[in-house]
Amino acid sequence: MARLKKVYLEPSEMPKQWYNLAPDLPTPMLPPLGPDGKPVSPEMLAPVFPMNLIEQEMSTQRWIDIPEEVLDMLSVYRPTPLVRAFELEEALKTPARIYYKNESVSPAGSHKLNTAIAQAWYNKKFGIKRLTTETGAGQWGSALSMACALIGLECKVFMVRISFDQKPFRKLLMNTYGAECIASPSNETKAGRDILAVTPHTPGSLGIAISEAIEAAVTDPTGQTRYSLGSVLNHVMLHQTIIGLEVKKQLLKFGEKMPDVVIACVGGGSNFAGISFPFIYEKIHGAKIDIIPVEPSSCPTLTRGPFLYDHGDTAKMTPLLPMFTLGHSFIPEPIHAGGLRYHGMSPLVSAALNDKLINPLAIDQIECYEAGILFSRVEGIVPAPETTHAIAGAIREAKKAREEGKEKVILFNFSGHGLMDMVGYDKYLTGKLVKHEMSDKELFKYLKELEDYPKP
Ligand SMILES: *Cc1c(COP(=O)(O)O)cnc(C)c1O
Repeated sequence: MARLKKVYLEPSEMPKQWYNLAPDLPTPMLPPLGPDGKPVSPEMLAPVFPMNLIEQEMSTQRWIDIPEEVLDMLSVYRPTPLVRAFELEEALKTPARIYYKNESVSPAGSHKLNTAIAQAWYNKKFGIKRLTTETGAGQWGSALSMACALIGLECKVFMVRISFDQKPFRKLLMNTYGAECIASPSNETKAGRDILAVTPHTPGSLGIAISEAIEAAVTDPTGQTRYSLGSVLNHVMLHQTIIGLEVKKQLLKFGEKMPDVVIACVGGGSNFAGISFPFIYEKIHGAKIDIIPVEPSSCPTLTRGPFLYDHGDTAKMTPLLPMFTLGHSFIPEPIHAGGLRYHGMSPLVSAALNDKLINPLAIDQIECYEAGILFSRVEGIVPAPETTHAIAGAIREAKKAREEGKEKVILFNFSGHGLMDMVGYDKYLTGKLVKHEMSDKELFKYLKELEDYPKP
C-alpha cells in the first residue's frame, strides 16, 4: 500500500471561523498611536480602510465568522494539502517526521490570496470601487489583482522598483487580471517624487511603496478608493489563521496529536501567523511547542531590531505601531526574497515575541537557496525565495533531531512557489549570490530617527 503522503480535507471541513490571538495574549496589546501620541480612533483610519475591516483590526473577539461568500471563493483552492516530506526526511537521514502545508497551490501561487479575497469582499460590501496597494516581490499584488477581478473592484499596485525590474512576469500577471502595476517610487505621488528627487536610482522598498499606495487612496476625490495591506496588520493575521486551523485537523488524520516544532518565514508576519497562531493558542494552554519564525540575516527585524513605536511606511503616513523594527527609513539589501524585505513586524507577532511564545531565527540567503534547491530536487516543488527560509529552518531542526536521536514532528509553512522567481535561482546556480550580514552601524543608523518617538 502506498504510504500516506498527503491529507486533503473536504470543503465541508474548512474552518468556519478565523482565530484572533489578541484576546489570548498573556500581555495585552498596546494600541497604535496617532500623530498626537494618543491611541488612534476607528474614525482616523476610515479614509484608509473600510469600517468593517477596521472593526476586525481592533477586535478582541477570539473567533470571527468567515462570511459564506468568502468561504465559497476560498474553496477554489482550499483546503490546501498537508504533505509529509518523506523524501526530504530520507535525504537528511533524520528520525524527524516533516510536514509542510502547501499554500503554493493557490492560483496566485502563495498564501496571500487568503486575505486578498477577504479584504476585497469586505471593501466591496462597504461600497468601495477601487483598491490601491504595494507589492514587494509581486505575490501580494498578484493575489489582490486576482481577488479584485473575481469580486469586481479596480486595482492599482505600486511595485518595489527592484522587483519590478527583476520580475517582469509578475507585472504581466497583474495586468492579465486587469490591474494596473507601476514601479515605486513613481512620479504619481508626492511621496514618490520626494524620494526620487533625493535618490533617483533607489531600488525602492516596501515602506516607500506603502506610502505611495496610501497617498493614492486617500487623495481620491470621489472617496471610493481604499488601501489594502497584504501583511503586518491584525486583520491580515486573522484571515491567514485558516492555514493553521486546517493543519490541526490534517495532523490528526496523519495520526499526529501536536507538532513539536512549527516554522515559517517572516516578512510582515502573515504566513507565520497563519500557521502558528492556532498552535500558539495551544502553547499558551500548556502544549510544549517550539515556534520559530525565520527571517533573512540581511533584514533581521525580530532577532536584532528593538521593540519600538514606528511607522509602517517610509513617508510616515501610517499610525505608530508597537513592533520590532529596523526603522522606517531602512532599505534592506536587494536580496531575492523581496517579500521578506520589510523594516517592521506585525504587532501581533511582535507581542508574541515579547511574551516569549516564539523563538526567532535569522538565516543567510545562501543557506536558504541551498535548502530550496535540495527541496526542489527531492520533493519536486520549487519554493519561493521567501519560503526557502522556512525550509532552511526546518532542515536545521531535522538535523538537530538526527544529532539528538529524537523522533520530532516538524511542521512548516510552504508559503509559495518560486516559478516566477527563477532569476534568483539563476544567480545562485551561477555563483553570483553573496552572503550578507547587517553591521551594527547599519542597524543603528535608521533607528536614530525614532529617538523622540513615544516609547512602548
Ligand atoms: C509575501 C510572502 C511572504 C512574506 O510575507 P508574510 O506576511 O511574512 O507572510 C512569504 N512567502 C511568500 C511566498 C510570500 O509571497
